[in-house]
Amino acid sequence: MQRTRRLHVAGPLLCLVLATGAFSEELPLFDLPVACELGRSCFIQNYVDADPSASTRDYTCGTLSYDGHNGTDIRLPTMAEQRAGVDVLAAAPGRVLRRRDGMADTSVREGGRDAVKGSECGNAVVIAHDAGWETQYCHMARGSLRVAVGERVEARQPIGRIGLSGLTEYPHLHFIVRHRGEIVDPFAHQAAPNACGAGRMLWLPALRPALAYQPRQVLNAGFAGTPVTMASLEAGDVVRQPPDTETPALVAYIRGIGLKIGDVQAMILRDPSGQVIARHEAERLPRNQAQTLIFVGLRKPPTGWARGTYKASYTVLHEGNLVLERSFNIDLR
Ligand SMILES: [Zn+2]
Repeated sequence: MQRTRRLHVAGPLLCLVLATGAFSEELPLFDLPVACELGRSCFIQNYVDADPSASTRDYTCGTLSYDGHNGTDIRLPTMAEQRAGVDVLAAAPGRVLRRRDGMADTSVREGGRDAVKGSECGNAVVIAHDAGWETQYCHMARGSLRVAVGERVEARQPIGRIGLSGLTEYPHLHFIVRHRGEIVDPFAHQAAPNACGAGRMLWLPALRPALAYQPRQVLNAGFAGTPVTMASLEAGDVVRQPPDTETPALVAYIRGIGLKIGDVQAMILRDPSGQVIARHEAERLPRNQAQTLIFVGLRKPPTGWARGTYKASYTVLHEGNLVLERSFNIDLR
């Protein structure tokens, strides 16, 4: 999250920026700034807004950004993972330039925007690297910062933990890259205006397969013994209380991110014999959605749950094409 005003470039600074073209061979290569596995234990929710106007697009000309967004949002699956603790890591060697700690880990939905006005980044660290590059790490957990101003850090060194401080409503790292004061998208450095998928990647080559652009992703998937809400999912209750043979209901759920206007989601639940016992097709999405929770389920039959493997299948169709799918099982024995 976090929105900042665009920097106004004055004449003399503009000359400086143009002059830096001579140093383009000194491009940094960043490591993943979070101790998690992309696509499994963390997910990219938003990229830098590549559109200077009031509309929005990410570096591929896709929808995963919002107006004025100046960083990359790497999101944890739930608040339960945040509470368990996930380290924020220095993306490259450097020296700690600034830090802020002491802000509460409170969702902006509870605390309101005014409470974080002027401190939207929350608890944060800024690291200076060579040749005028800087990285900034926002929304860290209160009391988790492990580096002092002036301290040297190595790449992948833990500097704190992901939190919920500043202007945020879900646990994530907002990772900002700057070069001589200008915002840089580490997925598309120096991309031409209106280019889609162009520019230089500033990530280490080994990371690039995991960082491949995913227009839509499954953030959470599983089974529950009661209806699922965003709150129970975030709190980890759903995972802590898995269904069993006594469970009053069997509910298969999915939370997706990045779904688009016009997407049609469907879920099917099959019993151990392969018979479809519940089915749900959602309404066509009326707008792009940062996150979407869908579930299907049924109450315990009077005869109890048949023992065996229950299978859930989730699909997303867009204009008739399959654009996302996931299947998952649970054994009731
Ligand atoms: Zn952000």
